[in-house]
Amino acid sequence: MRCGVLLLSFTPRPDVVVAAAARLCYSDVSAAELLAGESPEKMRGLLRHIRESGHFSPFEHASFTFAVDGLSRVASHQLVRHRIASFSQQSQRYVTMGEPDVVIPPSITKDSELQQRYLEMVRTAHAVYMQLVESGVPKEDARYILPHGWSTRLVMTMNARELHHFFTLRLCRRAQWEIRNLAREMLVKVREEAPLLFETAGPSCVLRGRCEEKNPCGRRYSSLEELLNEKIV
Ligand SMILES: Cc1cc2nc3c(=O)[nH]c(=O)nc-3n(C[C@H](O)[C@H](O)[C@H](O)COP(=O)(O)OP(=O)(O)OC[C@H]3O[C@@H](n4cnc5c(N)ncnc54)[C@H](O)[C@@H]3O)c2cc1C
Repeated sequence: MRCGVLLLSFTPRPDVVVAAAARLCYSDVSAAELLAGESPEKMRGLLRHIRESGHFSPFEHASFTFAVDGLSRVASHQLVRHRIASFSQQSQRYVTMGEPDVVIPPSITKDSELQQRYLEMVRTAHAVYMQLVESGVPKEDARYILPHGWSTRLVMTMNARELHHFFTLRLCRRAQWEIRNLAREMLVKVREEAPLLFETAGPSCVLRGRCEEKNPCGRRYSSLEELLNEKIV
């Protein structure tokens, strides 16, 4: 299964809602009035100010829900470390893994012999899995034989503050290619719906023009456009 990301749902008018929440803090009128009165340029300036000053709490009022299919369990394990997000993941306790279905890293697909060997092992592991299931071993135990690369599906919700944090960590070149690809797809999708909230996002080289990693990759991005257009693997 190829990895696919769908933006299932999101807070309506996310830019406006966050801008109104932020403006409310400094205003003597209601958020409803503010929602009507804010010009796009004023919103842009306000949201930029909040991002740059790090006063991110108004960003928590906009949430985004994604459906992700075809991610490896390696990457999903990295993803679920983000504790402020909400997750529902396909269960290998209840769903039978009826066909071999793995993500193959590009470092392996580029060598047909290695890819062949990789797939042979996957098919062997899957055949043993099916034998265990058919012999009455519970799926929750039989799955122990399946490889890390097995593909999974999940639904995930993050608010815009957590998304910014996630993009800072997972769009950095030091993150692994699969979760970087996922993070970039997610950023592209949320920028379509909330261009002001995500006018900029990503690692510190993009946000602040300098690397804040202890072990820099040595190839910092010069702009968000470079990050969005880069072929990751
Ligand atoms: C390049 C890279 C390499 C990594 N390598 C490893 C590794 O080798 N081993 C490993 O175990 N992990 C590794 N990680 C995972 C990493 O340690 C974090 O678990 C993961 O990135 C989630 O980050 P987070 O905790 O900041 O995010 P979230 O869980 O989304 O939390 C967001 C923020 O909320 C706050 N917060 C959340 N929960 C708490 C809490 N309980 N108490 C206080 N504040 C909280 C923190 O400010 C946190 O930054 C790696 C991550 C990256 C990006």
